Amino acid sequence: MYNDVISFIRQTFNTPEEFVPLHAPYFGGNEKKYLNETIDSTFVSSVGAFVNRFEEMMTEITGAKYAIATTNGTVALQLALITAGVKAGDEVITQPLTFIATANAIAHSNATPVFVDVDRDTMGLSPDALEAFLKEHAEMKNGEAYNKGTGKRIAACIPMHTFGFPCRIEQIAEICARYNITLIEDAAESLGSYVGDKHTGTFGKLGTFSFNGNKTVTCGGGGAIVTNDEAMAKHAKHISTTAKVPHPWEFVHDEVGFNFRMPNLNAALACAQLEQLDTILTNKRELASKYKDFFSNTDIGFVTEMEGTTANYWLNCVVLNNRDEREAFLEATNGSKVMTRPIWRLMNKLEMYKHCQCDALTNSEWLEDRIVNIPSSFRP
Ligand SMILES: *Cc1c(COP(=O)(O)O)cnc(C)c1O
Repeated sequence: MYNDVISFIRQTFNTPEEFVPLHAPYFGGNEKKYLNETIDSTFVSSVGAFVNRFEEMMTEITGAKYAIATTNGTVALQLALITAGVKAGDEVITQPLTFIATANAIAHSNATPVFVDVDRDTMGLSPDALEAFLKEHAEMKNGEAYNKGTGKRIAACIPMHTFGFPCRIEQIAEICARYNITLIEDAAESLGSYVGDKHTGTFGKLGTFSFNGNKTVTCGGGGAIVTNDEAMAKHAKHISTTAKVPHPWEFVHDEVGFNFRMPNLNAALACAQLEQLDTILTNKRELASKYKDFFSNTDIGFVTEMEGTTANYWLNCVVLNNRDEREAFLEATNGSKVMTRPIWRLMNKLEMYKHCQCDALTNSEWLEDRIVNIPSSFRP
């Protein structure tokens, strides 16, 4: 079964026999040069020229006014939630179909996730489901949204751009504004993805990115927050760097801060990678187009970007016809050393989050049964 798919993938990656990974990093630029410069400078840790350069590059790429480098994408989300004023006991709406980090960051902020369904085509939070949920469950008190059932404040909403395919973020932003719910975008997977000509991660108050080893570009481990809000940017930077009050020698810290700083060593790698972002995106788009042509002659679906959006095609996705076909596809490909992975188990099915409120989640369940990621690395 699926021998035609397996041989097409092997041929596309010019890998006749060996293991084909899902997503390998590509180091084709100044990575070693910048790493050596960093070591020679001795500024390998949390202060250094590359951290500043990385933050500047992120503002240039996304069009956001400010960027704050962090240790990884998970703490970028946690920091964004804290910066947005999310407090212990609040609720945060997100999608059940996401990587665990989204829900964990909400839990780390001592808030509770509420899971609302996704759209089938974008695989990201559904504005229709969000609107319906708020209509049924939210009431406004002193200009803030509260959950009628739990009595808790609905403080924020975190949609996620699944595998780099932009969700309907403009409609989501409009709904959040109406209910005075702070919008934070988990753009961890969508560096290089746009709605119109606006970069994902810049539609809400804050957006977050990840530079983990499996992402479109990587710095080993790293993250970033972007925002246009100067006060929030300053506060996020301050608490990410132990909330130390600037002074030539005294140690004075004015609130409980974090050590969420990106080391200069990682920032050096990040800068070298971001320099190649356009090349990497073009390469990935070519791969997606090859896949699209191939799968159009099969009974396997292939996910493409929605009209009016540009996806980064971080991880390409096929749509199998049902759960059994999904299992057969996973077994055949992985059994032949062609790495494929199913979309995530829904968050509300995991032990830690099964007590959380959800809506019907019809589309999330549908996608969970059918979506599989296929090899998507840069092809040199
Ligand atoms: C990768 C990822 C993150 C952040 O991951 P880190 O490994 O902490 O950088 C957050 N959300 C989503 C959806 C992700 O895919």
